[in-house]
Formats: sequence, structure tokens, C-alpha cells
Amino acid sequence: MVGINISLAGADWQLQTTITVPSGPIQVKDLIPMVQSFADQVVRGTVRSVEESGQNISCKKGCGACCRQLVPISEVEARRIHDVVTELPEPRQSEIRRRFAAARRRLEESGLLKRLVDRGEFVEGDVQSFGVEYFRQGIPCPFLENESCSIHPDRPSVCREYLVTSPAENCAAPSVKTIDQVNMPFKIWPALARFDKVHPGEKLIRWVPLVLALEWSIDHPDETQPRPGPELLHEFFRNLAGKGEAAPKDAPSPSKVR
Ligand code: SF4
Repeated sequence: MVGINISLAGADWQLQTTITVPSGPIQVKDLIPMVQSFADQVVRGTVRSVEESGQNISCKKGCGACCRQLVPISEVEARRIHDVVTELPEPRQSEIRRRFAAARRRLEESGLLKRLVDRGEFVEGDVQSFGVEYFRQGIPCPFLENESCSIHPDRPSVCREYLVTSPAENCAAPSVKTIDQVNMPFKIWPALARFDKVHPGEKLIRWVPLVLALEWSIDHPDETQPRPGPELLHEFFRNLAGKGEAAPKDAPSPSKVR
């Protein structure tokens, strides 16, 4: 293992931390625990700064309105979600799989499934308008239970990064006018997504809707070659700074739907 010191600073915040990664070859998915822990530190620092400015975060346990939104995750986190489900004991695992299947059925019945499967054809604006249609269906995330996240320690980074200061009741019918989303100094999940090269013709970084993560992961096994941990971490921070090579230069991020 090797410890790498990270020092980041913005106008009103700074973060110094050490991330420990294996020095030998690893897969990108092996970075996820470190990246999620880093994401938590970024979120904590941002929350502190929001509270110091006199605002309060409205998000709390028991309020899962945002868990009915279209949740875009990176491909590597989709595979992680697959692993999380596969590691669940029975009968819990079957229950979660049943919920994924039910959500898929709802999407099919509403006519949204095909467009979601063909999301590589989306251009700027499509994701946002599609996200509105998706939210109207009221399809809960398969992990939502009693309006709380049942995989809280393993939830994807986009879920960690989504916080609002507007009244919680506004999230039941969100709009740009009624939702004040907290601006994170940078977004973690697109930095993970930028590990994946975009296909010719695609306008956006690659992403997987959380609700289709299981079937997508089965159809797309990880075929990337392991690389030294410090090299992968370096690429992650290049991606975070928007300097990764895989990202289309001017592509909008589907994070606009969250
Ligand atoms: S993974 Fe958890 S936090 Fe994320 S949408 Fe699902 S229930 Fe909500």
C-alpha cells in the first residue's frame, strides 16, 4: 500500500487528506471505497461551509423523494452495485432483485425503457427532459426502504453528492425554481465515468441508470486491464479536474438531472 497526500483548495474551502491505494495492479472498481470515502470528506466540508453561511441542509433520513429521480451512475459503480446485490444474503437478495425487475416493468409499460437503453443517442437537453418524464412515473429506487437508503454505506457517489437547502417538501415536485441544490466544488461521479472511453457518435460521458445497473453489469463484464493503484488514482484526479482524455470536451453531464 502507498499513501498519497491530497491537497485541494477553493475560494472558501480546503481539503487535505491522505488516500491509501495498493501500489500494485488493481481494477478501477478497487478504487471505489477510497473514492467514496474521499467523496464523503468533500461533502462534509461543503456542508460545513453551507452551514457557516447560515443555511441548513434539508436532506435527512426518512426523506427519499430524490430516490425516485433518474439516478445516473458511472459504469464502474454499476458493476459495484451488481456486486453489492450479489453479496446480499437470502431472502434479501431475491427481494432486491424483485424490486429491480418491478422497476424495469414499470419503465417498459410507460414506454421509457427503450429510450433509456438507447441513452447513447442522448444529446444535451435530452437527459433533463427525460429525467422529468422518469420522475413523473414515481418509480422508487430498488434500495429505497421506509423512505431511507438501505445500502447507505455503499450508495453511489452521485447519491452522496446530492443535497438541497430548499424545503424538503419541494422535492416531491422538484423544479429549477423550487429546488436549491448545494453546489459541490467538484462532482465525483463524472470523474469515475470518465475512465470509460465514449463511443464514436456519443455526445455525453457514459453512464448507467441505477435502476438498470444489474442487467447492464451482466451484459458488460469488466474487460479492462489492471493498472498500478497510484496511476489509477492520478487519472481519477485528472478526471476530477476535467483533464481526462476520455471525456468529450464540451459534453454536459447527466448530473443535471440530479
Ligand atoms: S442508492 Fe440509496 S440514496 Fe441512492 S437513489 Fe437508491 S435509495 Fe436513494
